[in-house]
Amino acid sequence: MSGPGQYLSDPTEGITRPEDLPPARIIRRSRNFKHRCCPYCGKRCYRHDTFTRVLHDVGDLVCGRPRDIHLEYWQHRCTKCRKSFNADMSDYALPKAHYTHRVVALAVRLVIEDGLPYQAASWHLWRDHRVFVPFATIQNWVEAGGKKGG
Ligand SMILES: [Zn+2]
Repeated sequence: MSGPGQYLSDPTEGITRPEDLPPARIIRRSRNFKHRCCPYCGKRCYRHDTFTRVLHDVGDLVCGRPRDIHLEYWQHRCTKCRKSFNADMSDYALPKAHYTHRVVALAVRLVIEDGLPYQAASWHLWRDHRVFVPFATIQNWVEAGGKKGG
């Protein structure tokens, strides 16, 4: 059989350890501002220190690899409140999240709209979007959204 509908399995099928999956492409982004306003008192605050967080994004289907955003951001310090705060990154991901909004939205849709069980949704995300999300993580997202079971 060699027609257009020929079945070809995904080359990564059967891999059980995430570290055996193809390596991620790294996309570098930065949030670099000289000043930001303090969220507590509104004072303009200088940047103070820089950090990098890694966010797993939707992967690259052309080369079949996942994509990680290495997001460099600055922490600013308010001398009045004596508090530190980060440059805003909420357009990429929720605070402390390891995945972008895009990935979370896709995963939740697979469960809510398509009715996929969590494990099937996890495989779908890897096979068709090249982003590895453990099924328990998807379950946490859906349950946090509070819409499952409708
Ligand atoms: Zn302040």
